[in-house]
Amino acid sequence: NYRCRSAFKLLEIVDKYRLLKPGDNVIDCGAAPGAWSQIAVQRVNSTGANAELPRGTVIGIDLLNIAPLDGAHFLPSHDITDPFTHARLQDLLPNAKADVILSDMAPNASGCKDMDKEKLITMCLTLIDLSEKILKPGGSLVCKYWDGFLAQTLQNRLSAVFGCVRSLKPKASRKESAEKYFLGQMYKRIK
Ligand code: SAM
Repeated sequence: NYRCRSAFKLLEIVDKYRLLKPGDNVIDCGAAPGAWSQIAVQRVNSTGANAELPRGTVIGIDLLNIAPLDGAHFLPSHDITDPFTHARLQDLLPNAKADVILSDMAPNASGCKDMDKEKLITMCLTLIDLSEKILKPGGSLVCKYWDGFLAQTLQNRLSAVFGCVRSLKPKASRKESAEKYFLGQMYKRIK
């Protein structure tokens, strides 16, 4: 049982694009209540449930509390846009490196849709800084965004550092919602 229906959106993406392999080290941004982390734990074998496969790591971050989950290390009361959080992640990751960054983050609704969209894009842009610090060359990023005028800016910034960038609308995501996901693959370090 998943903690939240959002699980089905991630399942569609990881199955179609073959993300999250046993042994992968994964960061889950905006992880509460923890459904995406549940999927990551199963797929990367972070509990070591399958002794024959490599064992990965799952680290979930949220401003909110997250109920404990076997195989995941949660950082509640952490803001993923804060460089202090980036440093903590580097300390916690094996060799300070991640294979996959997931983000289903969303800001609290302000009542103004355009402002919320812009805020979410700004949050996603900080994931590019995080990638520069921790993502392995060849690594992947999945991030939720709300379609709007700044989405193109985010896509351009992602395209500068990922070999392949796709915009996805999972079937499990409500049609009437502006919610979409960018999938960046083949991370290339440019510095
Ligand atoms: N993927 C999650 C799951 O499957 O259980 C659901 C995530 S929920 C849609 C979005 C989360 O993003 C909220 O819990 C919110 O607290 C978190 N969030 C928003 N801004 C954040 C930030 N700056 N840093 C960390 N988490 C943030």
